[in-house]
Amino acid sequence: MSDKAALVADLLAHARFLEGLDTVGVAWPRAGAAAAEPPEPGLRVSAAATADRAASLKAVRDDLGDCRRCRLAGGRKTIVFGQGNPEAELMFVGEAPGADEDEQGLAFVGRAGQLLTDIIEKGMKLRRADVFIANVLKCRPPQNRNPEPDEILSCQPFLEAQIRAIQPRVIVGLGKFGAQWLLKTAEPITRLRGRMGEFQGIPVMPTYHPAYLLRNAAGKKDVWEDMKVVLKLLGRPVPGE
Ligand code: URA
Repeated sequence: MSDKAALVADLLAHARFLEGLDTVGVAWPRAGAAAAEPPEPGLRVSAAATADRAASLKAVRDDLGDCRRCRLAGGRKTIVFGQGNPEAELMFVGEAPGADEDEQGLAFVGRAGQLLTDIIEKGMKLRRADVFIANVLKCRPPQNRNPEPDEILSCQPFLEAQIRAIQPRVIVGLGKFGAQWLLKTAEPITRLRGRMGEFQGIPVMPTYHPAYLLRNAAGKKDVWEDMKVVLKLLGRPVPGE
């Protein structure tokens, strides 16, 4: 392909991501299965493994209980545990609930959440219900201030246990707090973004937070590059390629 043709193809893919095409529901077979075909019986996750993941995740939620382990308990309305498919191959880890999330008890349901949905569904052609979305913190910090180190430590065992329960094949760290927590680093997100790392052996893609993209639309192109890498790692089709 000539440079010009490659550039045009890239721009078209980017335009599709930004403006969104019709969402196509994609069934999500487990590892190795062809995208458009039903998985081979041997590739299905056994019912037992499925039940294990869901049951393990429920046990984590039960352990969390009506958590009062840090000061954020005093100001929150609801605990935002995270939601999605307990068998998800792909997991997203954000920072902390905002006002909408605190109100509804669900992660990423405000404006940033809508953009995350677009990234997943319009960009990656996956279904949001097929991934799992969680945050470093399960309670909203007052006035959406940054998480404090001791709050992150209090929540840490629960996010770790969620990841162990779900056993995703790839995790996306959204923004500074998601990425730094997963990669155990203090490097700025501008340096981390797009460079694969790992969390306990699971590949991690650090990328910009959707809330940042709401203020800096130019960053969407970088996020799309990162999501293409994630799709390739999952063996999923890359729209526009
Ligand atoms: N920002 C986050 O990091 N998480 C949410 O759930 C919502 C906004």
